Amino acid sequence: MLPITEEEWKKKLTEDQFYVLREKGTERAFTGVYDAHFEKGVYSCSGCGIELFSSEGKFDGHCGWPAFSEPVESEKVNLVKDQSHGMIRVEVTCANCGGHLGHVFNDGPLPKGYRYCINSISLDFKKA
Ligand code: FE
Repeated sequence: MLPITEEEWKKKLTEDQFYVLREKGTERAFTGVYDAHFEKGVYSCSGCGIELFSSEGKFDGHCGWPAFSEPVESEKVNLVKDQSHGMIRVEVTCANCGGHLGHVFNDGPLPKGYRYCINSISLDFKKA
C-alpha cells in the first residue's frame, strides 16, 4: 500500500490500535479479544486488512496473547531485530502497512518451533 502519514493513521485507527500498530505498544496480557479465541477462520491486519494468520496455525501459548506457529504466507510479515526494553527480540510487522503486530519466539510447537506472539488489537477475525 502507499505510505500514509501518522496523522492519517491516527484518524483511521482507534487510540488503542494506534498505540500498538504505530507506536509498537503491547496490549496487557490476557486482555485481548483473540487470546482465548479458537474459532475457525482468518486473522487479518487491523491496520490494512491483509490476511496474516489462520486458525490452523493458532495454538494456546498460555502467554496472554494470541499465538501462531506461522503466518499464512511468510511474505505477509516482516521480521525485524528489536533491542528495545533491554531485550533482544524479533519484532513482527505487517509487510503491507508496516504496522507492529508483536514478536516471534523460538518456543513454539514442533516441527517449526515458532511462536508468533501477536497483539489481538493488531488483528481482525473473519469466521470461516
Ligand atoms: Fe497491515
